[in-house]
Amino acid sequence: MENLITSNLENKYYIETFGCQMNVHESEKVAGILVSLGYEETKERAQAKIIVFNTCCIRDTAEKKIFGNIGELKILKRLDKSRIIVIFGCMTQQEGMAELVASKFPFVDIILGTSNVHLLADKIKELEERRARKRGKVIDIDTNERPAVIEDVVPYRTSYPNAWVNIMYGCNNFCSYCIVPYVRGRERSRNPELILEEINALLKAGYKEITLLGQNVDSYGSDRNDGVNFYTLLNKIAQIDTKFRLRFMTSHPKDLSEEVIKLIAETPNFCNNIHLPVQAGSNAVLKAMNRRYDRDRYFYLIDLIKKYMPDCGVTSDIMVGFPGETEEDFLDTLDLVKKVRYHNAFTFIYSPRKGTVAAKMEQIPYAIKSERIKRLIALQNQITLEISETYVGKIKEVLVEDAPKEGYLCGRTDCGRLVNFKGNKEMVGQFVNVKIEKNKASALIGEIVNEC
Ligand code: SF4
Repeated sequence: MENLITSNLENKYYIETFGCQMNVHESEKVAGILVSLGYEETKERAQAKIIVFNTCCIRDTAEKKIFGNIGELKILKRLDKSRIIVIFGCMTQQEGMAELVASKFPFVDIILGTSNVHLLADKIKELEERRARKRGKVIDIDTNERPAVIEDVVPYRTSYPNAWVNIMYGCNNFCSYCIVPYVRGRERSRNPELILEEINALLKAGYKEITLLGQNVDSYGSDRNDGVNFYTLLNKIAQIDTKFRLRFMTSHPKDLSEEVIKLIAETPNFCNNIHLPVQAGSNAVLKAMNRRYDRDRYFYLIDLIKKYMPDCGVTSDIMVGFPGETEEDFLDTLDLVKKVRYHNAFTFIYSPRKGTVAAKMEQIPYAIKSERIKRLIALQNQITLEISETYVGKIKEVLVEDAPKEGYLCGRTDCGRLVNFKGNKEMVGQFVNVKIEKNKASALIGEIVNEC
């Protein structure tokens, strides 16, 4: 049970984030706006004057969970009516959803979409004026497919020593199952000079790992006319002469190029880690998904990655139960997973999203999807375990990311493997050499052998 103390409401905010890393970083921007207005973060909803939900609609389960969570806010609003409840993000950007949220949850005060949350300070002011005139809530969803790229919001970062940097927004790909292009609009790339400025400032401030974010980072720059593409952007970042780690997500198998793979292999600061979502191993399913690559193209990329970076940690997103997926199609997915041998994979069951092409296709029964996901997870777990075993006895450089409890640390190898080990919290943000001693289900266990 949360502590229902409402005496300290004046200057606290609480943000709950659902969904992907893109959303986590969006929440950092919202936090930046609220901090600039004089608010401080609280981890307890009940103590917050402003409660913000940053929503996700990528899967049906995410949406149901968010509805449940919004419903729980009713009692807090009743305890203190001055509280401001803000809902924004992918879920509210869907057609008709803002109106549905407003009618289902009348205690919600501000509803924004994905591209106008930078206006939050103005919207809070507008709400206060409306409240004075008893005029109700503020709803503002920008339906422009190419909203402007906003540069003047300074994120309040909470993930030291890691920092996320958007390089682009939106997506042009329209995979037939995906809602993202409908709720995040078309691709808009940030100015490369501003990206470099942000990265340099973060490194100067002591951040040690930068993750470039975009729905399809490989098509960075295609909407600009300054000649900078993803490869040339990476090349500029490769010139930065200080020790740090660079990761990026997400790459698309139809666009990832050999020159990018080669550059990652040649640049010490670029991690041996590529997230390359395959989604399915069957050509028929990939076609129905509108992924615009086939198994051969995917294996070609995997061969290139292994040629330039034999130890590369390749990870993936894999879906089962797409409409029309036969047992044979599913066996193609298992076969691909066996051949690629992912270090890790995010596996999930397809769920139809209203408004997408695949939602109108004939769906397959849940029992079949559920049985298939179990087989896929069992296979991937076995592969992850076998790969993890190969780490035991080796010394790996780890960036210390957190101190989850007194005397214990956790961090990642450059392949992205989680490692737990003993140490003191002052070491967060340092690179250390860790000898891997054991392999446990979700992480490697090791011991620091010396600081780097
Ligand atoms: S590439 Fe496909 S799956 Fe990824 S965001 Fe774009 S439409 Fe969605």
